[in-house]
Formats: sequence, C-alpha cells, structure tokens
Amino acid sequence: MTYTALVVGGGIAGTASAVALRKAGIDAVVYEAYDRTADKAGAFLTLAPNALDALRALDLDVGGLGFDTPGITITSGSGRRLGELAYRLGDVVSRTVKRADLYRYLRDQDLHLEYGKRLTGAVATGDGVRATFSDGSTAEGDLLIGADGLRSATRRVIDPAAPGTRYTGLLNTGGYARGVATGSEPGMMQAVFGKRCFFVYTAHPDGEVWWAANPAQATELTPAEMAAISQQEWRTRLSDLFRHDHGPALDIIAATGEIFAGWSSYDVPRVPVWHRDRMIVIGDAAHATAPSIGQGAAMAIEDAVVLAKCLRDSPGIEAAFRAYEVLRRGRVERVVAQGNRTGGWKALSPLARVPRDLIMSLAMKHAARTGTDPSRWIYEHRIDWDRPIALPA
Ligand SMILES: Cc1cc2nc3c(=O)[nH]c(=O)nc-3n(C[C@H](O)[C@H](O)[C@H](O)COP(=O)(O)OP(=O)(O)OC[C@H]3O[C@@H](n4cnc5c(N)ncnc54)[C@H](O)[C@@H]3O)c2cc1C
Repeated sequence: MTYTALVVGGGIAGTASAVALRKAGIDAVVYEAYDRTADKAGAFLTLAPNALDALRALDLDVGGLGFDTPGITITSGSGRRLGELAYRLGDVVSRTVKRADLYRYLRDQDLHLEYGKRLTGAVATGDGVRATFSDGSTAEGDLLIGADGLRSATRRVIDPAAPGTRYTGLLNTGGYARGVATGSEPGMMQAVFGKRCFFVYTAHPDGEVWWAANPAQATELTPAEMAAISQQEWRTRLSDLFRHDHGPALDIIAATGEIFAGWSSYDVPRVPVWHRDRMIVIGDAAHATAPSIGQGAAMAIEDAVVLAKCLRDSPGIEAAFRAYEVLRRGRVERVVAQGNRTGGWKALSPLARVPRDLIMSLAMKHAARTGTDPSRWIYEHRIDWDRPIALPA
C-alpha cells in the first residue's frame, strides 16, 4: 500500500519518520514551523542503546557525532559515591551528541522539508487529510503524522480535550567548558545530586566539558522572565547553589564562556487519544517524558520506526494506527512513569535529600549485588525492520 504522508514538525520524531516512511515506500513531506535553526540548539543529549538500535533499523549511524558514554556515576553533594550504572548493552554504547548536530544529521537525509510552515489546523477529507498552516497555505495527503513536540497543535486537533504541558518545577541550563580538569574518565557521565541542585557533566575526549544543571523553581517563569536572567545572574545563582557541594561544578561553571539561556522543564500527562481519522501524534506530542530519564529522543525514534512498519504491514491507515498504539502505548507510558520518579528526586527539599541519597545508595548497591539494572528493560528494546509486525494475541 503506498500513501503520501504529511509530517508536522522537523524535529527528531518528524525527520526520523520521514526516513522510516521512505524506507517503507511511503512519500512524506515534513512541515517545520521554524527556519533551519533548531530549537534549544545549544544543549546536548545522550542516545541510549535502544535509540541507537532504532536508528540502525533506519540505516542511520551517528558514530560521527559526539562521543561514547559508557556509564554514569552518581554522587551526593557531600561527595559520597552513591553508585554507577552502565549506559551500554553488550557492545552497544550510548552516545552523547549536541542536539543541533543530531537535528542537522537527520535533516540532511535527503528529505522533503518545508520550513516556515506552522500547522494551525487539519481536517479529515474522507479519503485523506487537509492541513492548514499559519501562512494561509494548505497541503493534502493520505495521512498526517503530528511530530510537533511538547506543545503539539496536532494533539489538540485530534482531541480538543487533550492535556497540555505540565511544569515539573525544574529549570534547565548548562554549557561547554574549556581548560578545566575534572579528573573523570572521558565520556563517563557524572551526576551529582547536590545539596541544593542537580548537576551533571561529562568530559569530551578532546577535553571540553559538557554540563547541565537543574535548579528547582517552584513557580513557573514566563518566557520573558526566563529571557531576562542575564549571564551574570546565572553565574551568580549557580555558584551559590553549588557552593557547598563537593566536585568540580564551580570550576566548570567558571570555565564556561556562555551559559545556556535556560528553559523550564515540562512533561505532558497521559495523552488518552493518539489518533483520529487519518491523523496521529508521535514523539513528545504523544508522550513527553521528563528530560531526567534521557529517553525522549529515543522514544521518538522508536515511534517513527514502528509507525512506518505498521503502515507498511497493515491493510489500511486506521488499522495501522490501531496496531501502532497496541505496540507502543505500554512501553512509552512505563518509560514516562520511570522518568517522573527520577525527575522528582532532583527537585527535593533539603530535608528530603538525606533519605533520597540513602534510598539511591541502597538501590544502587542492590543493583550491583544482584546484577540488575533498572534501565535494562528500556535499553534492550530491539526493532527488526524486516520482520512483519506481530500484535499480541
Ligand atoms: C534538557 C533536555 C535534555 C534531554 N536529554 C535527553 C537525552 O539525554 N536523551 C533523550 O533521548 N532525550 C532527551 N531529551 C528529550 C528529547 O529532546 C525530546 O524527547 C525529543 O526532542 C522529542 O522529539 P520530537 O521530535 O517529538 O520533538 P522536538 O524535537 O521538540 O521537535 C518538534 C518539532 O516540531 C516543530 N513544531 C512545533 N509546533 C509546530 C507546528 N504547529 N507546526 C509545525 N512544526 C511545529 C518544532 O519547531 C520542532 O522542530 C531531553 C530534553 C530536554 C529538554
């Protein structure tokens, strides 16, 4: 069955979708709201083994981007080592990449991308879908895939009662530092559950240190309030937050030329309706997980591959959407739930910090003693592109 697909959003899910659809023999045009510059282009993310596997299913190899991240070491602000977790599965090692590099790599896959096209509405036309964009233009196709992220317009077109974003009580910032010696193994992620703030850093094999911090912020800031935080203010605020912690946070911040402007962190509560007629949402638009678990991009890429397989193997579009939901909902919602628990640990009050560190330390010791890894079930997900989809009985 061959179709033409309108893909809304040229982020990770949208571009991966276009590659997957092409592989399944389906024509796709990607409509991206912005110009070529990627949103929050400065930040970095880690692609876990399941993300690398999903990319491999699309014949995509990000080995030329970033660097290997074989594991994460977790310490408390007092310098106590709470444990270590592997970020690998057999030979497959997680890869930490700049977000802008990943976007660029995906967009460079010879896709049909149209920039400056912000979806404002879509209607079923009987045998297809017609999308409307903010510049007044329209486009028609057999199906529409909403890969338009956290604040998805497609989500609301499909279900006007769909939930919106939920503020998690955390801010994000970070940067790239030069000329600072951390003493840590290159590539290893170092997470510090500090006395007042979470800090994570990793040294690129070339010596640059990539870092991020999650200051707690009880009330949500407006975009204008966020933009008004100056470089100097970030520096002062972060230095104050990490003043009493062990570890290199203060040196790393001091060695950073430009601290990211910062943004609020959100998730989306369970989205009950993923598809209607010939429209469907995938990626963050369908199940935005808190960034803490490092799986949002991974889920988006897995979604793209599985949806293309469902369209390839099902007798029609609605049947493909139903099959997709059966195959994906349980997994992504389990990941979102695990992400929420991790995010909650970062935002704890000073009083709750002590039991948190104890629980983490015990959990890590248990994992080390029994050889169990709490993320293993997430990492070991495999997609065989050639195998036809099989729905559970
Ligand atoms: C601080 C932080 C750290 C993270 N770390 C990790 C990590 O280590 N590992 C990991 O796997 N994930 C991580 N994530 C999550 C990951 O970045 C997201 O889950 C992923 O980007 C989701 O991809 P997406 O394509 O669904 O959405 P996006 O990448 O946000 O793309 C959505 C696209 O749609 C476009 N768009 C929006 N509205 C419209 C519209 N109306 N019309 C047309 N286009 C539109 C946007 O401009 C954008 O290009 C992190 C996220 C954050 C915030």
